[in-house]
Amino acid sequence: MIVNVIGAGLAGSEVAYNLGKRGIRVRLFEMRPKKMTEVHKTGYFAELVCSNSLKSEDITNAEGLLKAEMKLMGSITLEAAEKARVPSGKALAVDRNIFAKEVTEAIESLESVEVIREEVTEFDPEEGLWVVATGPATSDGLFSFLRNLLGDDFLFFFDAVSPIVTFESIDMEHAFWGDRFGKGKDYINCPLTDGEYEELWKALVEAEVIEMEDFDRKLLFERCQPIEEIARSGKDALRYGPLRPTGLVDPRTGKEPYAVVQLRREDKEGRFYSLVGFQTRLKWNEQKRVLRKIPCLRNAEIVRYGVMHRNVYINSPKLLDIFFRLKKQPNIFFAGQITGVEGYMESAASGIYVAYNVYRILKGLSPLKLPEETMMGALFSYIIEKVEGDLKPMYANFGLLPPLKTRVKDKFGKRKKLAERAIEAMRKFLEEYPW
Ligand SMILES: Cc1cc2nc3c(=O)[nH]c(=O)nc-3n(C[C@H](O)[C@H](O)[C@H](O)COP(=O)(O)OP(=O)(O)OC[C@H]3O[C@@H](n4cnc5c(N)ncnc54)[C@H](O)[C@@H]3O)c2cc1C
Repeated sequence: MIVNVIGAGLAGSEVAYNLGKRGIRVRLFEMRPKKMTEVHKTGYFAELVCSNSLKSEDITNAEGLLKAEMKLMGSITLEAAEKARVPSGKALAVDRNIFAKEVTEAIESLESVEVIREEVTEFDPEEGLWVVATGPATSDGLFSFLRNLLGDDFLFFFDAVSPIVTFESIDMEHAFWGDRFGKGKDYINCPLTDGEYEELWKALVEAEVIEMEDFDRKLLFERCQPIEEIARSGKDALRYGPLRPTGLVDPRTGKEPYAVVQLRREDKEGRFYSLVGFQTRLKWNEQKRVLRKIPCLRNAEIVRYGVMHRNVYINSPKLLDIFFRLKKQPNIFFAGQITGVEGYMESAASGIYVAYNVYRILKGLSPLKLPEETMMGALFSYIIEKVEGDLKPMYANFGLLPPLKTRVKDKFGKRKKLAERAIEAMRKFLEEYPW
C-alpha cells in the first residue's frame, strides 16, 4: 500500500522519512516552490518559517526532553539539525538553509519515496491511506475541501488564545472559587482592589505588542479584541468588560471586588487554567510582566502564552482518535500543527508518532499510545483526551506530565526526575515495541 503524505513541512518530512527508510512506499505532495504559502520562502522541505532556534537540548527543559525522546524514536529533524548546528549556548540553533536542504536531500534520496511538487486540493477519502500535514498555512483549496469533509465547526482559522497557567502556581490565598451569582464553583476568581486594577491597566496600556499584517488585523479584530486594545479604549473599559466583578462575591469580604480576573479550567484533571478574555498580542516577556500585577498570579507558571495569529487547525479532541486518525475515517491521519500541537519540535514529534503507527498498521499490528510519562505521550494525550471545550494549540511543558509519586520541592530537581522517568519509559516502550 502507498501512504500519501500531504505537506513536506516539519511533520510531513518526519512521516515520509521514517516510513520511507523502512521501505514503505510513500507519495509525498509538496506544493512549494510552485505555489508558496504566506510564510515560506524556499522550495525546501522542513523550512523553518521564523526563528532558527529549535530551543533547548537540556532535558530539564520541556523542549530538551522532547528532543531526547524524538532521538530515541528516530528523527530526521534532529539528524539534519546536528549537521546544520550553529553555536547557541544550551539551545539547538541551525543554519536554516543547510538544515532544510539536509532534510530535503535525505528524503529525496530514499527510493521508496516519490516526491510530487503539486498542491493537493482534494482527494478521495474512501481510497488509500492519507496523512494531512499541511500546517498552519494550509492552502485555500485544501482548506475548503477539509471544511466540507470535517464540517465548519471543526476547522479553526484563527488562533486567539489567552495565557494558560498551572493550577499549582496560582496563589489561592489571593483567590476564591465561584461562578457569577453563586451558580457554581467552576471558576477561580482573582480579585483586584482599585489600586491593583490601576496598576494592571497601566501595565497593559504600556506593554509592547507584536505587530501583525493588516489583513490579519482586520479579520482578527472583527472576531475578538485583544485585552490591551480594550484597555486602551479607557481606564474603566476592563472592569465593565472582561474584568467585571458582577455577581462575584469574595467570601473573605462578603462584597463584590473592584474588578476580577477569572480563570477557567482547561483540562479534565484541572491542572491548567486560562485567563478569561485575556487574548492578547503582547510580547511574551511583557505578558509575564503584566500577569505579575495580578495578586494571585504573582508566581504563576505560564505554560502557554497568549497569541493571536492566522493558524489553521482542526478540533482534534472531537475529530481524531488517540492515534491522530479521523474517528469517522481511520484511513486519514493528521500530523503537525494542524492537529493543535504548536512549535517546530512538537510538529515534528507528531509526525514521528503518526509514522510509527502507520508503520505498525501496515505490518498488521495494532497502533499504540505512547506512555503518558513521556513528553510526547503526555502532549498527544492532552490534545486528544484531556482538553475541555475547544482545543487551543499546546506546546511541550512539564505541567502535562503526570505528577511524581514522591514530592520533590525544588523545581529543577523535580524536572530532572520527571525527565529521567520519561526517558526510561520511552526506552522501555521501544524495547518492547520496536520499529
Ligand atoms: C508565522 C509563523 C511563525 C512561527 N514561528 C515559529 C517559531 O519561531 N518557533 C516554533 O517552534 N514554531 C513556530 N511556528 C509554529 C510551527 O512550529 C510551524 O508553523 C511549523 O512549521 C509547523 O509544522 P508543520 O509541519 O505542521 O507545518 P509546515 O512546516 O508549515 O509544513 C506544511 C507544509 O505543507 C505545505 N502545504 C500546505 N498546503 C498544501 C497543499 N494543499 N498541498 C501540498 N502542500 C501543501 C506547505 O507548503 C508546507 O511545506 C510558527 C508558525 C507561523 C505560522
